[in-house]
Amino acid sequence: MIYKPYSLHNFRQIPQMEFLSEEQKLEIEVVGTVLPFKTDNYVVDELIDWNNFERDPFFILNFPQREMLDKATFNKMASLITGNAPRKTIQEEVNKIRLRLNPNPAGQESNVPVFNGKKLSGIQHKYRETMLFFPTQGQTCHAYCTFCFRWPQFALNDFKFAMKEADTLVEYIKANPHISDVLFTGGDPAVMKTKFFEAYFNALLDADIPHLRNIRIGTKSLAYWPYRYTTDDDADDLIRLFEKVKKRGINIALMAHFNHPGELKTEAVQKAVKRLISAGVQIRSQSPLLHHINDNSNVWAENWREQVKLGIIPYYMFIARNTGAQDYFAVTLDRAWKIFKSAYNQVSGVCRTVKGPSMSCNPGKVQIVGVSEVAGEKVFVLNFLQGRDPSWVGRPFFAKYDPDAIWLNDLKPALGESNFFYEQAFLELLA
Ligand SMILES: *Cc1c(COP(=O)(O)O)cnc(C)c1O
Ligand code: SF4
Repeated sequence: MIYKPYSLHNFRQIPQMEFLSEEQKLEIEVVGTVLPFKTDNYVVDELIDWNNFERDPFFILNFPQREMLDKATFNKMASLITGNAPRKTIQEEVNKIRLRLNPNPAGQESNVPVFNGKKLSGIQHKYRETMLFFPTQGQTCHAYCTFCFRWPQFALNDFKFAMKEADTLVEYIKANPHISDVLFTGGDPAVMKTKFFEAYFNALLDADIPHLRNIRIGTKSLAYWPYRYTTDDDADDLIRLFEKVKKRGINIALMAHFNHPGELKTEAVQKAVKRLISAGVQIRSQSPLLHHINDNSNVWAENWREQVKLGIIPYYMFIARNTGAQDYFAVTLDRAWKIFKSAYNQVSGVCRTVKGPSMSCNPGKVQIVGVSEVAGEKVFVLNFLQGRDPSWVGRPFFAKYDPDAIWLNDLKPALGESNFFYEQAFLELLA
């Protein structure tokens, strides 16, 4: 299959657009002018059920929806576009809207390390054992998720988190003996040609770093373009490269984003998964919990069961981040926990490798362990799964129960405390 991307300038050529009214196409254009929009022929032909596209999770996952902008914003953009406003006017309005959508959540700036007096813009190192690496060639994706928290880098061409030198990567890991994992991320690193993977991986192998144990690749490619591992012209070379890493004693893991069990059902994805696993690649799965896409415990239980059947290890359930179209996708913390619990309760232990629901916040990954009552007060029980300070992890703490809370900053300490236990240390860390 030949990869064919669709975006704002050519989506009207998608044959299935005949199912949409003119008004629906205009909605895509209006919202797609503000938020990034890209899909491909695999998603369009194999995943979306066009007979029911308005409610189809994969349609909503790639195609911008009217409700992703508030009414006033939508109407303003629509009138500019239908009124053929000058390009410059549209662009100015778009920039204003984007800045209102919290383009840099969770303080990612403060994860960028300074090394030998130089800011390493292609690295984020927040959690002691695991550093993120953003290869320059992997900063786009086969298709864009409408919920994506990395949307500013696609929309604003803001590639400040990217690096192309393998040397700096190697030097940084060597100098930090706590780092056991390097996680290639993006965008989607799997959009890179194999020759770039080779350059980075060979540099890591040649450096022979004893504390480097895991190379991970965060990717949505299995769901959006599984042919990357089967029939693409450099797929065989990529599989051989993975085998080589594995033979050298380094675990290689795809951190695969699967939002819905429907993404696991095509022949193409099943072939790709089989091939990766035969090559010794571990596949772990993660996804945010999203209104309109997967806010249903049966969907999650099926997702985990199907994954385990294919040899994939369920890993994280996330809460949707506080950026972009968050209001559209938001699920309250209370409901997130209920969905998690009800899904977890209906699967066996082999599926319960999953952790969550978890918020990726500035201080760390905070899990909602549950709702409980302590000394007569209704509380959320929370727990750090990862922390800027590793000692915060695994110490339960309490917030006042709030049925409407959707993010950590909506929560207040419970039981008469004025601060959460980590807050003072967190401020000191940032200073
Ligand atoms: C999630 C995350 C990681 C990886 O954490 P694991 O729990 O080891 O999977 C690393 N860095 C950042 C900034 C993250 O958000
Ligand atoms: S594949 Fe990942 S990085 Fe790309 S748009 Fe989706 S969530 Fe964002």
